[in-house]
Amino acid sequence: MPNKLVAGNWKMHGSLAANAALLGELASGGDLGVACAVCVPYPYLGQARDRLDGTAIALGAQDVSEFGEGAYTGEVSAGMLAEFGCRYAIVGHSERRALFAEDDATVGRKAAAALAARLVPIVCVGETLAERESGETMAVIRRQLDAVAGVLGDEVLGSVVFAYEPVWAIGTGRSASAGQVGEVHGEIRGWLRERCAVADLVPILYGGSVKPGNAAELFAVENVDGGLIGGASLVANDFLAICRAA
Ligand code: 13P
Repeated sequence: MPNKLVAGNWKMHGSLAANAALLGELASGGDLGVACAVCVPYPYLGQARDRLDGTAIALGAQDVSEFGEGAYTGEVSAGMLAEFGCRYAIVGHSERRALFAEDDATVGRKAAAALAARLVPIVCVGETLAERESGETMAVIRRQLDAVAGVLGDEVLGSVVFAYEPVWAIGTGRSASAGQVGEVHGEIRGWLRERCAVADLVPILYGGSVKPGNAAELFAVENVDGGLIGGASLVANDFLAICRAA
């Protein structure tokens, strides 16, 4: 079984003052007994790196360019993120897919760019409510996974973290049930086993309305190796409680 990982995704929240308070509380959270990371907006990477230096909390970004360098106004490369101390980069979050038109192949190329700079891509997959209700959940997830494997090649899948984030559970207060999570995570594990010798060591996180009150139940589900936490990662005590539940 992989070590559990809990990663906070701050999304587009924060300010220097608010971050200082949040990071300070996280830094004094002590040994959480689990791998832990915060994925902060780009401008705050330096602040978070300096404040978390010497703690067990790793740093991540919420996106990464598929390109290495060049005339790509507005883009941030994986090498830049590595230089700022990032260990992780989220790729393919459903908000990027839906609001910024990222397709499956782009997500694969972003994951490849992250790996090339020795970052760990946290590859997000997940179905919309309409897709779930029409029985397409597994087909959608397989399509998203296949696209990433198609770009990366199976041999590097052992260096990736996956996150199952059902779109309908994100920011809604309505997490997927333990049964639904177990079903999809089992499917993702099976997909990994078809391709990768170290499939059982690849972390598969769950994301979508994880709170202190439901974290322990969700993290106890087979093949759930931690969580990707949105709203609750902005509240230090909630995030620390979720980490401790993992
Ligand atoms: P919430 O925890 O706010 O539902 O967000 C989940 C998410 O999108 C993490 O990437």
